Amino acid sequence: MLVYNSQTHRKEELVPIEEGKIRMYVCGPTVYDQIHIGNARTFLSFDVIRRYLMHKGYQVTFAQNLTDVDDKIINRANEQGRTAAEVAEEFSAAFIEQMHRFGILDPDIRPRATREIEAMQEMIQLLIEKGFAYPVPSGDVYFSVRSDHNYGILSGRDLDQLRAGERVEVNDEKRDPFDFALWKAAKPGEPSWPSPWGDGRPGWHTECCAMIHRYLGTPIDIHGGGADLIFPHHENETAQAMCAWDKALANTWMHAGMLRVNGDKMSKSLGNFFTLKEVLDKYPADAVRLLMLQTQYRAPLDFSFERLDGTVGTLERMQTCVRNLRWAAGQKPKDGALEEADREFGRVVDAAREDFERQMDDDFNTAGGLAAIFSLVTAANTYLDAAGERYANAVCLRAADTLCELSSVLGIDLAREAADELPHELVDLAREVAGYEGDSASDAAAALLDARQEARAAKDWGRADAIRDGIAALGLVVEDTASGARVHKKA
Ligand code: AMP
Ligand code: ZN
Repeated sequence: MLVYNSQTHRKEELVPIEEGKIRMYVCGPTVYDQIHIGNARTFLSFDVIRRYLMHKGYQVTFAQNLTDVDDKIINRANEQGRTAAEVAEEFSAAFIEQMHRFGILDPDIRPRATREIEAMQEMIQLLIEKGFAYPVPSGDVYFSVRSDHNYGILSGRDLDQLRAGERVEVNDEKRDPFDFALWKAAKPGEPSWPSPWGDGRPGWHTECCAMIHRYLGTPIDIHGGGADLIFPHHENETAQAMCAWDKALANTWMHAGMLRVNGDKMSKSLGNFFTLKEVLDKYPADAVRLLMLQTQYRAPLDFSFERLDGTVGTLERMQTCVRNLRWAAGQKPKDGALEEADREFGRVVDAAREDFERQMDDDFNTAGGLAAIFSLVTAANTYLDAAGERYANAVCLRAADTLCELSSVLGIDLAREAADELPHELVDLAREVAGYEGDSASDAAAALLDARQEARAAKDWGRADAIRDGIAALGLVVEDTASGARVHKKA
């Protein structure tokens, strides 16, 4: 598998540190507000990267922090007359809720900055002892960029150029304008923790670095975030790790491109944002995923509601195709040998899987992966249209399962049953034709499917069809899947 490494600017073969295992970390949100869909794009990219690595058989350990102490949280709390802890708690819960709605897998480890103060203080102490950091009279502790000869290694920035070109906060206590705070002295009313340098709180760059070291061990295989984090956040993270532990923080640095609206990066400060919550209130999560994944994760992504409206139709087309294939798989089997068209369709199914993996193996090219899925949908529709009355059942089933499986690697669930509330008439039908004696619609459906299966096994097609027709008369359809048949409402 080839993975683009932001540090070397090349696609490299992915070689795990420990065979068969991947340890990855993705910087989490600062929890002071609902996240916007730009943030969501970055989290989605790494969700799919993680899912694909799992699909390839890697045992993935995924950690993501919550930055629950920060100036933005403190400012928001002051505006609203609440404590910083209350604001952080509210938006941590909101973030997790929206991630669930968006179908993002929970991290294996979700450390919160405020609970990791000790690990951060240990790291800061080590950096001071090794001469890479210095406390100042106000109670701050700074990392000394001049003492780190590797500073700039990730972003490729040179300190002299930086000093000439960029405006930084003026602060008399810093030895170099690019020195950054590892520890910030507490101002009155701010959350703070005792430390050898006085009461205070950790700097943002310090958090991730100490948490990675504590929970995953350094170096890790993959460190990710949005491209806007490369400098200074990730540069500063890697500088601390190399100076504290003489080790790189990560072997591969991966960065997601920015989501834009009308050519501008979506951001809170520009005010050009939509929250993930408001978008998911109006659109199915899978349609939003589909829109975002049609662009490879590193490329900028242009968002518009017109495009999103379009992907709703695309998603429905995929769902309908799977439903039709499952329906065809449940029809009378073909008599005699398969025809060339059936065999050709079987080859297309296998080729789609290979093409999907080839695309995804090339730096997680989800756009290419989706193209492979779409071409299978087109081929399936053509096959179903041309097949006449009899379908190659097993091939149709394999096609449906392949579509569901490949989509699920992208976190898109085509197998989801459409909010199924089965009607009670099923109970009467099951009593009549399957000897059912209970009173539950879903048990009745299971009894009917069992009876149909028995009839099919006995080649009693008349009875099998009669059961299916009885179910159909209630506005329901029977779908055959690899894991058995099921009954659901007609879409
Ligand atoms: P923040 O809470 O600002 O640290 O952002 C959380 C994550 O979202 C970080 O990985 C950012 O790089 C990422 N991010 C912020 N804005 C965008 C955007 N417009 N497009 C993609 N990712 C973004
Ligand atoms: Zn981070």
